Amino acid sequence: MRSLSYVRARTVREATQAFATAGEGARYIAGGTTLYDLMKLGVEHPAHLIDIASLDGADRIDTGGDVLFFGAGALMADVAEDDVVRHDYPILAESLSKAASQQLRNMATVGGNILQRTRCPYFRNGAIGAYPCNKREPGSGCAAIGGLDRSQAVLGISDTCTAVSPGDWPVALTAMDATIEIQGPAGPRSVPIAEFYRLPGGTPHLEFSIEGGEIVTGISVPKTEAGKNSTYLKVRDRESYAFALASAAVALAMDGDRVRRAHIALGGVATRPWRAHEAETLLNGQTIDREIALAAGRSAFADASAGEHNAFKIELGARTLADAIMTAGRKTQ
Ligand SMILES: Cc1cc2nc3c(=O)[nH]c(=O)nc-3n(C[C@H](O)[C@H](O)[C@H](O)COP(=O)(O)OP(=O)(O)OC[C@H]3O[C@@H](n4cnc5c(N)ncnc54)[C@H](O)[C@@H]3O)c2cc1C
Repeated sequence: MRSLSYVRARTVREATQAFATAGEGARYIAGGTTLYDLMKLGVEHPAHLIDIASLDGADRIDTGGDVLFFGAGALMADVAEDDVVRHDYPILAESLSKAASQQLRNMATVGGNILQRTRCPYFRNGAIGAYPCNKREPGSGCAAIGGLDRSQAVLGISDTCTAVSPGDWPVALTAMDATIEIQGPAGPRSVPIAEFYRLPGGTPHLEFSIEGGEIVTGISVPKTEAGKNSTYLKVRDRESYAFALASAAVALAMDGDRVRRAHIALGGVATRPWRAHEAETLLNGQTIDREIALAAGRSAFADASAGEHNAFKIELGARTLADAIMTAGRKTQ
């Protein structure tokens, strides 16, 4: 049996101090919906848990200022159901309401969501030593490469890891140029979401640009008129409840009937929430029709690389993006 200490913090300062005092093996826990899972599977084995689920003010949702602000401790369900988010930024609301189940969304936080780890089966089910995984045990190898790779990524992969970045909300946040607000022993800092998620390269165990002891305090999203013309489309094996096989977050700022600026990100197909710059460039200045939407979809996957069982994701991903562009386009009319 492993011994485990547990402490509940009431302020960010208390939490970071508790983390520093606990030392090696300390982990923050919020809703616990993924960390407890990984502990039970033997993938994660923290020695000290610092509960940050009820930090003062951590669940603040503020849509009235210059930016949208979501405290890291806000529940997924509360953000998904916020009136301003639902009406003016459907891309954000839909990415949350299509994630997990209602019960999970009532428990899980938006901060925990951006820090969840991959659902790669070899990462989650290999803790007993059956399968190597460079993310779980650096340098051990990757059983997914050349293995059962149906769920693996086709974009952003390396020769050490092809695990998909699992979250839906981070995909919408990526399209909307969100910033992650972080507080650590050295003070506060803000990290653009494009820099928050790391590519696997040769170090797939380093997933996020956050240091031990730092705490995510919130997420800021710039306000934009593109929010109203937006959508999050998610395709999955089981429509009611499953992680994405392919997803697309699209928001369109318009000049008349032409796209002035497209915001596009992809999920379910890449090793991190994937900004589709090529597709954005292709759409900018265009009027939306099925042909241009499909061309944008295809351009997003021009550099994709598939294994034995996941080549379908390239066509599925392109068509998912095309459908999302058409849906966002209809909202501009
Ligand atoms: C059956 C099932 C289905 C799911 N389906 C989906 C899905 O379709 N789409 C999807 O996006 N997600 C899905 N999820 C994942 C779910 O959304 C996450 O488990 C949840 O968002 C995590 O939030 P939490 O507050 O429970 O995090 P926790 O489990 O408490 O923490 C997760 C990680 O984040 C760290 N952490 C948490 N908060 C902070 C903080 N403020 N600062 C620093 N570190 C922090 C913890 O140390 C831990 O490493 C599913 C989960 C389950 C169990």
